[in-house]
Amino acid sequence: MRWIIAAVIGTALGAGTASARPAQGYRAGQKIDLEVASCGDAVCEVRTARAFRVMARAASKDGVDLAVRSGFRSRTKQAALYKAYRKGEGNLAAAPGFSNHESGRALDLYVTRGEALRWLEKNGTHYGFHRTVPGEAWHWEYLADGDREHLHRKPTS
Ligand SMILES: [Zn+2]
Repeated sequence: MRWIIAAVIGTALGAGTASARPAQGYRAGQKIDLEVASCGDAVCEVRTARAFRVMARAASKDGVDLAVRSGFRSRTKQAALYKAYRKGEGNLAAAPGFSNHESGRALDLYVTRGEALRWLEKNGTHYGFHRTVPGEAWHWEYLADGDREHLHRKPTS
């Protein structure tokens, strides 16, 4: 009997956030504690991960593959990207502590195949994902209802 209960609990967790783990992130320069979970081939903030899974499933039903190139970034990673950007060697990157990748809410998606971008532009907001950086078609952020004001602040890449 005990193993059946364990199996049921295991299955329930597996459907939710079994892989969630705590992480140290940043938002607007402030340290924040967050939980991250797997998000395609990357990791991202746990609610973002959940929303992405739902969205990816819907896209898949439409024959579109959504894949994540970059999700949550540690401060160290962001610092390296910012340094590269400042040297003219990388994409636009926000200063360490100020990227939404450090809050785990931003996803860089593969959009080189036009159909993924077209699908996102049509359906992304329905799942809470917004394209927030002009000129970066791949950068989408998960903004739940209370977070929409973030749409109007300085873009963070
Ligand atoms: Zn990005």
